[in-house]
Amino acid sequence: MSLFTAVEMAPRDPILGLNDQFNADTNPNKVNLGVGVYFDDNGKLPLLKCVQAAEKAMMDKPTARGYLPIDGIASYDSAVKTLVFGADSEVVTSGRVATVQAVGGTGGLKIGADFLKKLNPDAKVLISDPSWENHKAIFTNAGFEVGTYKYYDAANRKVNFDGMLADLNAAAPGTIVVLHACCHNPTGYDITAEQWAKVIEAVKSRDLVAFLDMAYQGFGQGLKEDGAVIGKFVAAGLNIFVSTSFSKSFSLYGERVGALSVVASDKDEAARVLSQLKIVIRTNYSNPPTHGGAVVSAVLNDAALRAQWEEELGEMRVRIKAMRQKLVDGLKAAGVKEDMSFITTQIGMFSYSGLSKDQMMRLRSEFGVYGTDTGRMCVAALNSKNIEYVCKAIAAVV
Ligand code: PMP
Repeated sequence: MSLFTAVEMAPRDPILGLNDQFNADTNPNKVNLGVGVYFDDNGKLPLLKCVQAAEKAMMDKPTARGYLPIDGIASYDSAVKTLVFGADSEVVTSGRVATVQAVGGTGGLKIGADFLKKLNPDAKVLISDPSWENHKAIFTNAGFEVGTYKYYDAANRKVNFDGMLADLNAAAPGTIVVLHACCHNPTGYDITAEQWAKVIEAVKSRDLVAFLDMAYQGFGQGLKEDGAVIGKFVAAGLNIFVSTSFSKSFSLYGERVGALSVVASDKDEAARVLSQLKIVIRTNYSNPPTHGGAVVSAVLNDAALRAQWEEELGEMRVRIKAMRQKLVDGLKAAGVKEDMSFITTQIGMFSYSGLSKDQMMRLRSEFGVYGTDTGRMCVAALNSKNIEYVCKAIAAVV
């Protein structure tokens, strides 16, 4: 009898588990469309030039690595505020946003969830159906009961917006609603500006707490365009939570750079909120790591590097869009009769292909093409060399 005799094997993470399976696959043509990572047209994970330039400058002037403040690098936090809310935004100039550096977007969500649990322990959390798998796990592990609001209409390949709105309007006051700010993961379907206005109205009239997860800013229509939704929540006078991830937009996945911003009602409130966020951080991991935050801060706070970043981010965005079109055309050329043009109306890194679990399993076993069982494929992993193969593989299973 050991201390761990009764410990059960936890289920594998569905996506990271898929990665292991992919790595073990000996098919020379294998393509990994499972994990949400952007690869360039050569199938390589990019190291952005702006990041290299910032790192080179840092290497030229090496610094010792002391502890960072609990809330991270000050210039990083202020750059995040500017990016998320705009430099001239009243919430920033009046000092009523509390921003902390976080360990990735995941860390931002977790800090927010732990703080919310202390603030309102009885609140329920609603996430979209479907959502990024970790949303449910993060809020459940923070102690919340997590339910869903309707989102995807599989039959009509669109957002079930009436259902979504009805669910929000039926939520109890204080309910925390996790919203994908842009590039919905996993479906690739975002709601329109008019629909956002209705969501904001519901959040306001039902006294809900909006937690906006911004993991793909810049991958939808552009940095500003994707960020506009945040400004609308702010304009409605709401106290919101925004998690930020630079994993994809800086291709800095492993550096774990993210943030949490909380919009309070005034400067004094923001200071009190910040002090509580710092307690959450201090008791979890004390303070964030130095390197990734320093790189992102260096890029965002330097006009030339920032311009270079926007250009590189734009290239990623444009390449994904081109791949969507190539996928639609390629599927048609491969003999798929069904109209697949919905793929170009989706946005961001993912496409809900509409393929069944059986079809996704066949793609894997017969062709080495890996997507999730739910039919999600990462369009950002397609390139001019693998697209034809993927199209033929899909054509063979549908
Ligand atoms: N939110 C969503 C919707 C995501 O897709 C991801 C990353 N897959 C994250 C948050 C977490 O990002 P990070 O890797 O920076 O923790």
